[in-house]
Amino acid sequence: MFDIAIIGAGPGGYTAADEAARRGKSVVLFERNLLGGTCLNRGCVPTKALLRSSKAYVEAINGNEYGIASSGVQLDFSAMHARKTKIVTSLRDGLTKLMKKDKVKLVEGEAQIVSANDASCTIVCGNMEYEARETVIATGSVPKSIPIPGIELPGVLTSDDILEGEGKDLSSLIIIGGGVIGVECAEIYTALGRQVTILEAMERILPPFDKEIAQRINMHLKKSNVKIETAARVAEITQQDDILCVRYCNKKGDEQQICARGVLIATGRTAETTGLFANNIHAKLERGALVCDDDGRSSLPHVWAIGDVRAGTTQLAHVAMAQARNVIRVICHEEQLMNEQLIPSCVYTSPEVASIGITEAEAKERGLLIRTAKVVTGSNAKCLIEGGDSGYLKLIAAKDNGRILGAQLVCPRATDLIGELTVAIAQDMTAAQLAAVIHPHPTVNELIAEAALQLI
Ligand code: FAD
Ligand code: AMP
Repeated sequence: MFDIAIIGAGPGGYTAADEAARRGKSVVLFERNLLGGTCLNRGCVPTKALLRSSKAYVEAINGNEYGIASSGVQLDFSAMHARKTKIVTSLRDGLTKLMKKDKVKLVEGEAQIVSANDASCTIVCGNMEYEARETVIATGSVPKSIPIPGIELPGVLTSDDILEGEGKDLSSLIIIGGGVIGVECAEIYTALGRQVTILEAMERILPPFDKEIAQRINMHLKKSNVKIETAARVAEITQQDDILCVRYCNKKGDEQQICARGVLIATGRTAETTGLFANNIHAKLERGALVCDDDGRSSLPHVWAIGDVRAGTTQLAHVAMAQARNVIRVICHEEQLMNEQLIPSCVYTSPEVASIGITEAEAKERGLLIRTAKVVTGSNAKCLIEGGDSGYLKLIAAKDNGRILGAQLVCPRATDLIGELTVAIAQDMTAAQLAAVIHPHPTVNELIAEAALQLI
C-alpha cells in the first residue's frame, strides 16, 4: 500500500510527487508517455525554445538594425528542433534524477482507477495492481478538436505534431484559433518566413486578454506578415493534392477559401479523463474535467485532482504546480502555501505580453474607482537598447489607498517583469511602496517604478 498514488507526470504530477516524497510519504507515479507531461515535451518549453530560435533568425536577418551587416543567413529547421530537443531532454533527465532521489516509484503505462472507497484506491497499470491511501489525478489535457468535415485529413495538425520530435517544416500554415497557442505558433512560423493565416472565431485574437493588448499583438503579427481573420466561422477542410483548403465565412458573412501546406487546430484543450475510470467508478465530471472543491477534492473519497484535468481551472503549468503544492499540504494536514487566485498570464511574442490582476475594463465593469498610469517603452533606455516593436506598461491602482490591483504589459521581458507585480499585488503593496524601491538602471523594470511614481 502506497501513501499517495499520482496519475500523470506533468508539472502537476511531478510537483505533487516531489512535495509528497519530501514529507516522507511513499509515492507511486504513473506516466503513460514522457516524464514532464505536456508542458515539458509538447507545450511551454518547446514553444519557447522554438520562439527563441525564430527570434535569433529574425535578429540575424535584421542585423543592420544593430550595426551588423549580415548576409547569407540560413535557416536550419532541423537544427532548431535539435536545440529544442536538447533542452527538453536535459530538463527531463533532471526530473528523472529528482524522482530517483525522492525514491518515487515511477510506473510507465496507462493507469486506471478500478476501485475507490473510504480506505484506499486501487489502480491498475499494465497487468499490475497498486493500492494507495490517497490518489491525485494529474492527467492533464489534450488538444481540443472541432466538429467540421475534413478534420481527420493528414496535414491537419495539433500543437503536439508541430512541437514534438523534428516538428513540421511547412511553407504555409493556416492556424484555426487565435488564443495563446495559436498566436505563439504563428509567431514561430512567420518569423521563419512562412506564410501564416490565423482564423479566430471571436471578434479579436487573444480573447481573454485586455483589448488594447490584443490590438497591439494583432498589429505586431500583421506587421510580421500574418494574415488574421477574426469573427471567422470555419466550415470545412478539404484536400487538393498536397494542399489543404479551409472554407470559412468571414466577418461580413462572405464565404471564403484559403489554402496552405498545413492546418493547425489551436482551438483549446480538453481535460484528459478518457479510460481513467473503470465502468463501475462514477466520478463527477464536467465536460470530461473532474469537478472538485476548492481544496482539489473530487467526488470520490480520497481522490484529488490538480492541473488541466480539474474543472474550471486556468490551464497553465504554474497553476498545476501551485495546486500540487496545496493538495499535498491538505493531504498532510498542513496549511496551504499557494495563493491560487492570483494567476499571471503570459504570451511569448516579441514584444512579450504579460498580465496580472484586473484590467481597466474589468475595474469599470465592477464599479471600482481606480487610477491608471501608462508608460511607453520609448521612454525606457533598456527597451530601446533591446529594440523591436514599441509597447507599454499599464499599472492600475485603487483610487483611495493606492493599492496595486492590476498590470498589463507589452514590452521586452514582460514575462519576467510580471513576477515583481504579482508579488506587489499578493502583498497588498501600494504604488508609493513600489515607487520607493530602487530599480536598477538601465532595466526594463524601471517601467514599473516610473508608472508607480505617476500614481502617487
Ligand atoms: P500535463 O502536463 O498535460 O501532464 C499530464 C500527464 O499525464 C501527461 O504526461 C500524460 O501522458 C499523463 N497521463 C494522462 N492520462 C494518463 C493515464 N491514464 N495514465 C498515466 N498517465 C497519464 N502553460 C504555461 O504555464 N506556460 C506556457 O508557456 C505554456 N505554453 C503552452 C504551449 C502549448 C503549445 C501547450 C499545448 C500548452 C502550454 N501551456 C503553458 C499549458 C501547460 O502545458 C499545461 O497547463 C500543463 O502542462 C498542465 O500540467 P498538468 O500536470 O495538469 O498536465
Ligand atoms: P485558448 O483557449 O487560449 O487555447 O484559445 C483557443 C482559441 O481558439 C480561442 O481564441 C477561441 O476563441 C478559438 N476557437 C475556438 N473554436 C474555434 C473555431 N471553431 N474556429 C476558430 N477559432 C476557434
